[in-house]
This record gives sequence, structure tokens and C-alpha cells, in this order.
Amino acid sequence: MDGPGASGAGGAPAGVVVVGLGAAGASLAWRLAGSGVPLRVVEAPVSSGRRTRSRTWCTWGPAGPGPFGHLVSASWPRVRLVPVAGDDVVAHLGGWRYRMLRSQDLDAAVRERLAGAGVEVEEFAVDDVAELREPGWTVVDTRPVPVPRTGRTLLLQHFLGRRVRTERPVFDPSAVTLMDFRLPQPAGGVAFGYVLPTSPHEALVEYTEFSGGVLDAERYEELLAEYLLRSGIGEVEVLGTERGVIPMTDADFAPSGVPGVLRWGAASGSVRPSTGYAFSALQRQADVLAARAREGSPLVLPPAHRRRHLLMDSLVLEALASGRVDGAGFFTGLFARNPVHRVLGFLDGGTGPADDLRLMASSPRGPMLRTVLGRVVPRVPLRR
Ligand SMILES: Cc1cc2nc3c(=O)[nH]c(=O)nc-3n(C[C@H](O)[C@H](O)[C@H](O)COP(=O)(O)OP(=O)(O)OC[C@H]3O[C@@H](n4cnc5c(N)ncnc54)[C@H](O)[C@@H]3O)c2cc1C
Repeated sequence: MDGPGASGAGGAPAGVVVVGLGAAGASLAWRLAGSGVPLRVVEAPVSSGRRTRSRTWCTWGPAGPGPFGHLVSASWPRVRLVPVAGDDVVAHLGGWRYRMLRSQDLDAAVRERLAGAGVEVEEFAVDDVAELREPGWTVVDTRPVPVPRTGRTLLLQHFLGRRVRTERPVFDPSAVTLMDFRLPQPAGGVAFGYVLPTSPHEALVEYTEFSGGVLDAERYEELLAEYLLRSGIGEVEVLGTERGVIPMTDADFAPSGVPGVLRWGAASGSVRPSTGYAFSALQRQADVLAARAREGSPLVLPPAHRRRHLLMDSLVLEALASGRVDGAGFFTGLFARNPVHRVLGFLDGGTGPADDLRLMASSPRGPMLRTVLGRVVPRVPLRR
């Protein structure tokens, strides 16, 4: 964990420099704008080639995400999983919703709030973050870093998504399809369709794979086309494209190593290894960081995820990557054998030990046990 940055003496708030206006940076900048904490915000210009492309962030739960509920562009009361064979698993979320937020909307809202607070977004690409340090200020650096290779398992969540329109009303706007496994499955991973419908005729449709490596550009096109066919969506008009590669790893992310500089965001391990999601964890961390800045305390990063959940994720990643568990069966079983709030609560880091035990008990025993045993039983050299 990063060491403390400089804090304001005698309870005076420390100044904060936020580097990067993505999910993490924007979340902190929103909370600090107009709070009385001296603030600078730096974002890479589009022309620098370093600017993160626009994307959609999904979260779930009773409210939120964080203070951005008013920016949610679509939400769904039901989630659906489609197994390779057999009936769909459909769950109603009760008071919860699965929600979508577009990064462009968050960016515009945060810039407006910053402008209202008299904070100008400084547009330049930071190369040496140490140069931004000033006495009494903490630099919060959210620039991406290379993925650490020090964990047991590194899978990539890679996808091609298209915002599409269809002539026929093929989508059910009350349900998001989290995973539709009617696709060829990669060895040591899993592949699925992901559908976020915004009307009977429009949706974001993605081909997503968790596996060891990315594919050729044409292969994503072929697989997405295959999914459109197999799912019955059929012919589409393409309105937009979203691509991504999200590392799913149990590796530790190194702190900045620079005094007064706090590394945060996907760069600090805020992405949940088993899901590739980070947005709601970033909201929890942003709440703590902003509160500490306001009270003039050193900015120390709270853990993004519970250790117990990280251990469970690590086992799941290893079992998937080794091919010990069949991904499609594993995820379908998880949702079919548990109440939806337990599964989604776990994936968002909200479950306690009792629910976590129930989840483990519902996962394929043999393969998971072999994965656990592989870690605790020392390997004995084979005798001739
Ligand atoms: C395509 C995609 C979709 C995702 N969807 C979801 C989702 O649905 N739900 C979810 O919870 N998580 C999702 N994630 C995971 C995670 O939430 C995102 O990666 C999230 O954007 C991470 O936030 P961040 O602030 O750490 O990084 P970013 O959002 O990438 O922000 C980093 C910022 O730093 C800026 N920057 C880069 N270099 C420099 C530089 N040299 N100088 C100054 N600024 C710089 C960038 O322009 C950017 O604004 C998704 C990830 C991807 C890649």
C-alpha cells in the first residue's frame, strides 16, 4: 500500500492533484470539487494517444453507483443467464437494479462540477508524476500501469461490443443477459454473449471471453456474428463499438514508490479479479479518500476488496485457467443454486463469511477441492 501523502497541518486540508479523469479520478474529483480541499485535476488530451476511450460502466445494487445515480442511462430489474443447454436462469432483483453509466456522461458532469467550483481541468499527458508534487499536496495517480505478472493466474477479459439496432423487436428491455454461453468455448477459459437492451430494438451486444490471450480483430467479428445468429438476434444495424481488455489476476499491484504519490484505480488492483468490474469498489475507495482529504488526514488507500474474496477469486481463476472447471457450467450453477442477491452481493464484495461459505458449498466440489489441495499439499517428487 502506498505511504501517506503530505497532509495539511493542524487539520487544514491537504491539496490533492488528481491525475487522470477516468472512473477513479472522476469519482474523487467529483467528491472534492467545492469541498474546500485545494484541488488540481490533470487529464491527458485526446491528441496525446494516452486518453482512455469512452466506455460503459455497469454496477448493481440497491442504489448508486456512488453519487452518480442521476447519471445512470439505463437500468434493469432482471438478470438472465443462458446455459449451453436447458432452461435460462432468470432472476428478479427485487429492490436492486443492474445499472449502466456511460463514461461520456460522467466526464461531462464532473467537468461541469469542477468548472462550477473554479477548478480547470489541465490537459496534458503526465510522464513523470513526481514533477507534480508540491509541499502539502498529495498526487493521486490513476494512470494505467502494465499488468503485473507476479500472481498465480492471469486471465484476460477481452471483448468486442456493438451497440445495435434491429428491425424486429428481439430484445426484452426488462432483463440484462449477463452470460449467454451458446458459443464455442475456449480451452482454459469461458466465452459468452452479454446483452444490455435499451429498447425492444436496441442493445449493446458483446462477445466476451475470459482466457489467456486476445484474438485477431477478425476473429472477434466472426464470434460476435456467430453469437447474433445463435442467440436469434439476427441482422443488425451497427450504431457504435466498444472493445476492451481487462486483466483478471490475483497478482499484487505495486504502490507508486514515490513519496507523496498515491497510485489508485485499476493501476492499484481495484478491479475485482473474478469479474473485471471496478466501478463500485472505486466508489467505496473514493468515499474514504475524499473524507480523509476533507479532514486533512494522510491519503491512505483502503483495500478495494476483502482478503477472503480475493482468495476465493484466486481459486476460481486458477480452476478456470487450468480447465479444471467448465466455466459455462460453473457460472450457470452459481446463479441456479443460490439466491441472486447472494451471488451478485459476493461479486460486488458485499457478502459475509456465512454467505461466502454457502457459495463455496454450491460450487463444483471436486475441481475446487483439487485447486485448494494443490495449494496446501506440498508437492512430493515422484519416486521411480
Ligand atoms: C472497455 C471496458 C469496460 C469496462 N466496463 C466495466 C463495467 O461495466 N463495470 C465495472 O465496474 N468495471 C468495468 N471496467 C473495469 C474498470 O471499471 C475500468 O477499467 C475503469 O475505467 C478503471 O478506472 P481507472 O480510473 O482506474 O482507469 P481509467 O478509467 O482508464 O482512467 C485512467 C485515466 O488516466 C488518463 N491518463 C492516461 N495516461 C495519462 C497521462 N500520461 N497523463 C494524464 N492522464 C492520463 C486517462 O485518459 C484516463 O482518464 C471496464 C473496463 C474496460 C476496459
